[in-house]
Amino acid sequence: MILIKIDQGIGAGIVLDGRPLYGDGFAAGETGHVVVAKDGPLCVYGNRGCLETLTSTRALLPCR
Ligand SMILES: [Zn+2]
Repeated sequence: MILIKIDQGIGAGIVLDGRPLYGDGFAAGETGHVVVAKDGPLCVYGNRGCLETLTSTRALLPCR
């Protein structure tokens, strides 16, 4: 099971075989920083084109 939360950032919780999947450095659910647009907007960590720079509520509703 995967639960994806979209708000000011994007993250996910993953349950595999009945147990939470944490991943290396607890980063298994860090889906918001997957690069989807090579030359996209700058994210808070200095990367470009992360999923959340294009699809989070912060990206879509900048006056929030
Ligand atoms: Zn990022």
